[in-house]
Amino acid sequence: MSNITVCARFRPLSSKERRDHGDSVCIRCIDTETFILKDEKEEDIIFSFDRVFCEKSDQAEVYEFLVLPIVRDAVNGINGTIITYGQTGAGKTYSIEGPGILECGEQKKGILPRVVDGIFEHIKPDKMAKYLIKLSMVEIYMEKIRDLFDLSKDNIQIKESKIEGILLSGATEMSIIDPAEALQSLSTGIANRAVGETQMNTASSRSHCIYIFTVKQELTGDKRMKTGKLVLVDLAGSEKVEKTGAEGRALEEAKMINKSLSALGNVINALTCGSGRANHIPYRDSKLTRILQDALGGNSRTALLCCCSPSVSNASESLSTLRFGARAKHIKASPRANCNEDKYSKKNEALCPDKDESCKRIL
Ligand code: ADP
Ligand code: MG
Repeated sequence: MSNITVCARFRPLSSKERRDHGDSVCIRCIDTETFILKDEKEEDIIFSFDRVFCEKSDQAEVYEFLVLPIVRDAVNGINGTIITYGQTGAGKTYSIEGPGILECGEQKKGILPRVVDGIFEHIKPDKMAKYLIKLSMVEIYMEKIRDLFDLSKDNIQIKESKIEGILLSGATEMSIIDPAEALQSLSTGIANRAVGETQMNTASSRSHCIYIFTVKQELTGDKRMKTGKLVLVDLAGSEKVEKTGAEGRALEEAKMINKSLSALGNVINALTCGSGRANHIPYRDSKLTRILQDALGGNSRTALLCCCSPSVSNASESLSTLRFGARAKHIKASPRANCNEDKYSKKNEALCPDKDESCKRIL
């Protein structure tokens, strides 16, 4: 059993925050793990996380500490999940995607393109090992799961399999053969998210976006096949409805988001405050918690990035984000490599459609 990794990230002050509230910040970093937040009552609250990334921290630092160990495990059949949590504008999407998924420069590249590079760097296809990498991309909007690779699939159902765990039934799985192709697919999915936005007249922070990489590894002479699932979750903004002054559709969206994020909080509470025996964990209370069932207390290495604004004007939202992270730190999980024996079954023949040299390139 291991605890989930919880980190905090503070983005630089935005120009609006500087204009409205000057340079004053509510955060003081003490060392790489400890920091102090001054709340609205001017009281100091001390936090100790696995790592704190202050405004000067760059994307590479976040990736190397939080994500790289999980990528290394995923290519060896161990599930991994990376979740970004925080109010709208706190830096969740910046951390995951970077300022743009294609061409934003090496330094600013987000977790997602680095994961793509990491997977292809760590797999070693040769005569002994073949790999198949698949990618799905969905969003949860108003408690419906929408396939971002095929917008006609707008109500994907969740299924559970004994071998593969939680599955999105019928969601498109793109086979990817190199990093460039993966980035192209991701950029299509992100663009599709924007299509939905204009149709629904909403903003991307009103939905939870989920990226799922599946890495299958087949070893010659070994009957088993290893499958690692790597899930990245860019959650919707966690701000309170009252603060946003939302009305109409925006209010309905906010209620749904609050409901699913509350369900996430309840799952975390049940996992950490329970008797330690088989107490009920309410995974089924929302689509989000059901999808994250493996990640929270199950068969997955999980990391949570709590994204915050450092501005005094957002101190109460940052405090609530950090309290969420502090509770999540107590969750225990038991990740293990996923091996199955059905390597030679019909279903898996697709693994190596072409039994010659080109396999090496494809897998
Ligand atoms: P969220 O997804 O949490 O709603 P975003 O990731 O869209 O927030 O970030 C809001 C704004 O702040 C964007 O303009 C983004 O470029 C900027 N930003 C966020 N984090 C950072 C950071 N670490 N460094 C520089 N700019 C950042
Ligand atoms: Mg966002």
